[in-house]
Amino acid sequence: MSIVQGTTGPWEMVIGLEVHAQVTSEAKLFSGASAAFGGAPNAHVSLVDAAFPGMLPVINGTCVEQAVRTGLGLKAQINLTSVFDRKNYFYADLPSGYQISQYLQPIVGKGEILLDLADGSTRTVGITRLHLEQDAGKSMHDQSPTETYVDLNRSGVALMEIVSEPDMRSGEEAAAYLKKLRAILRYLGTCDGNMEEGSMRADVNLSMRRVGDPKLGTRCEIKNVNSIRFVMQAIEYEAQRQVEILESGGTVHQETRLWDTGKGVTRSMRSKEEAHDYRYFPDPDLLPLKLDPAMVEKIKATLPELPDEKRARFIRDFGLKAYDASVLVAERASADFYEKVAKGRDGKLAANWVTGELFGALNRLGKGIESSPVSAEALGSLIDLIADATISNRIAKDVFEAMIETGKPASAIVEEKGLRQVTDTGAIEAAIDQILAANADKVAEYRSGKDKLFGFFVGQVMKATGGKANPAMLNDLLGKKLKG
Ligand code: ADP
Ligand code: MG
Repeated sequence: MSIVQGTTGPWEMVIGLEVHAQVTSEAKLFSGASAAFGGAPNAHVSLVDAAFPGMLPVINGTCVEQAVRTGLGLKAQINLTSVFDRKNYFYADLPSGYQISQYLQPIVGKGEILLDLADGSTRTVGITRLHLEQDAGKSMHDQSPTETYVDLNRSGVALMEIVSEPDMRSGEEAAAYLKKLRAILRYLGTCDGNMEEGSMRADVNLSMRRVGDPKLGTRCEIKNVNSIRFVMQAIEYEAQRQVEILESGGTVHQETRLWDTGKGVTRSMRSKEEAHDYRYFPDPDLLPLKLDPAMVEKIKATLPELPDEKRARFIRDFGLKAYDASVLVAERASADFYEKVAKGRDGKLAANWVTGELFGALNRLGKGIESSPVSAEALGSLIDLIADATISNRIAKDVFEAMIETGKPASAIVEEKGLRQVTDTGAIEAAIDQILAANADKVAEYRSGKDKLFGFFVGQVMKATGGKANPAMLNDLLGKKLKG
């Protein structure tokens, strides 16, 4: 929970999110036009999307299946009957004058999402509902100084609106929710979760209440925030703004606000519209949507293993810490990569290499795991060389860097550079003797109680062996020799 300290006492944030997720499908929700992102303006527009008179919507079965799949992934109730309604409003990018949406009877009801928090703990956030609706077109204000252009490519593309309960208590929890939801959608293949392209956008609802007050305060809704970082920034700003109003004896007005990325503030956009402003009514062109229970069962049977289950399995089978497991399952590609590395090897060691060295290198290179210069097999072979004591963990890091740079296999680099670990007792002993002889004064100090010098001797012997002495053997032999 994130507390805002006011001058009259502490306040608690209450946050609920509405996420618009674009359904992954070839065609739009009620027409056969392409739902692909981009394209020349108005290249993906059928007569239905442009709302020509007499055109009738025909439901796209794939979009319905995707909504059901998503509902099942959110452990939610699937409603076998749902209804499409017209939500009426006037806007230049909405040629029909109404959006086809679902209002009182959505396709998916209550579900839940488990948040993975930074301290390794989890928290459940309720899902209120998921409904299907059409996206609107796009008004373009930057093409001409005097006119606004309209691009209808997005008009009619299928969206899932996923509404959460007001269960979140901090910006971090809102971020964890969005990350988890995005991961689930990507695992399911129902939305690509790409926030920059707008295929996932969040409306943030936030109110404040005094700590301990069970009643909810009045909320503001910040519309269409398009990155997780902006969601967190908008929450911080808006919480402060509301507390200042409340503490000075004012009231928060329920309204729709915008996040101004340039100025870092939220701005009032319009007073909150009520449902009755939209004159919702069932679309007379569409029958109620009835699902065959067998179809739902079939989709259930083909669901992939989802992040929570995968995480639990990684903890159970590979002995991972909760946090490491969460990091690995956040993207399906990382989880798959990790599993290939860990198979038949020490799972924890594999996790350290993937989340540590590999993710570090990919970050530096600005690459995703799909285009990693070191394959899972190649990283596995490197770990094998550590396990069979051919090289130490320390040397392995240098070998890894060389693998990233050259793309060569670990064994070739070890041979080429002569990095094989020295495990020959005689050779290590000889190096130790030499260092002790050259540092007789320090040996005397050590023996008179200056224990810290042990690390100095280890360092010197390592240096003398080019870092290749087996660390465990070195420690052991050095200890014995120093005892005298
Ligand atoms: P609308 O459709 O008018 O935006 P909803 O009832 O669907 O209204 O709620 C929208 C979102 O607002 C939901 O995510 C819900 O959790 C959240 N919400 C509702 N009341 C509050 C509140 N007092 N403080 C914060 N969030 C709230
Ligand atoms: Mg809303």
